[in-house]
Amino acid sequence: MNETLDIAITRADQSRLTVTDFSQLPFGKVFSDHMFLADYNNGEWTNLRVIPYGPVPMSPAISALHYGQAIFEGMKAYRQVGGKISVFRPEKNWERFNKSAYRMSMAAIPQDIFMQGIAALLEIDEKWIPSQEGYSLYIRPVMYATDPYLGVRASDSYTFALLTTPTGPYYSKALRVKIETEYTRADDGGVGYAKTAGNYARSLYPFAEAMKDGFDQLIWTDAATHEFIEEAGTANLIFVIDGKLVTPSVRSTVLDGVTRDTIIKLAKEAGIEVEERRVSVKEVIEGIENGRLTDAFAAGTAATVTPIGEIGYEGKLYTLPDASTRTVSAGIAKTLNDIRYGVIPDEFGWNW
Ligand code: PMP
Repeated sequence: MNETLDIAITRADQSRLTVTDFSQLPFGKVFSDHMFLADYNNGEWTNLRVIPYGPVPMSPAISALHYGQAIFEGMKAYRQVGGKISVFRPEKNWERFNKSAYRMSMAAIPQDIFMQGIAALLEIDEKWIPSQEGYSLYIRPVMYATDPYLGVRASDSYTFALLTTPTGPYYSKALRVKIETEYTRADDGGVGYAKTAGNYARSLYPFAEAMKDGFDQLIWTDAATHEFIEEAGTANLIFVIDGKLVTPSVRSTVLDGVTRDTIIKLAKEAGIEVEERRVSVKEVIEGIENGRLTDAFAAGTAATVTPIGEIGYEGKLYTLPDASTRTVSAGIAKTLNDIRYGVIPDEFGWNW
């Protein structure tokens, strides 16, 4: 990032801060006063602007709505103990955003637009970054195809937007998850590794069915055999087996999570052995039964580390060790949060 970009700023007449209850923050419903937008036309990004958050006029013919060229990202800005504002590893999200864009035949977003857009938005909406413990400002980049054209082909025009929404601490009761063996989230050669709208759309029905049966989340398995564990709906999965951190390797069907990557690095530094490999359902179920599996958790931006308390598989419910005994995941979660909030030194240079 070198030259400073020209970003036009239009301020909201009135801030909604005073009418926002920061003690009641359902995830993703309350947006800050402003948003960042940029348009891609004729091969270049133009019209970089920060404007009041609100509806964007669009034709119902835009190809994002018909053929699903739509991608997004998610990261968080923290108000640190020393008062600094820090975004956690945003360049990783930028890289992944462009991987998603490439797979979906969409325009790439230059790093300086992504980063300076975030900086401009955070500067104008700084007061929206909560200061209570465990709170943060969630940043949602999104890009969608805007050609008003019904032919099936990659769009020539796109809109890139950055939205922000203040969030409170995630509800971290241990989850009851179901190992899904009928429906699939992603298949080899598909788009599972891309953060694209359709991956989430296709998961909604199986998820709703699982919820009816009392589950909080799904564990997806591979499409070909349903014998191997892939990931959860919006988080990667990490197990502790024989004292080692074991996590399904990232492949074309699994999102390469920033939290997962961060936890792997922290664990290795703490001297914990890490195995990134295929993890079978059998190994997990047997591990619960014979006590070799002592911890399991979902890792993602939204929740950081969420313990898994029960796993449903083929109509049977398996109970994992009590969440209060999970010293490995609790220790990693604490270190990660302490780095994000500036409580301990950021030796990896993750805070931006
Ligand atoms: N898998 C999926 C399908 C996700 O949507 C997310 C959330 N981005 C993750 C994993 C976790 O990724 P991250 O740690 O980068 O938030």
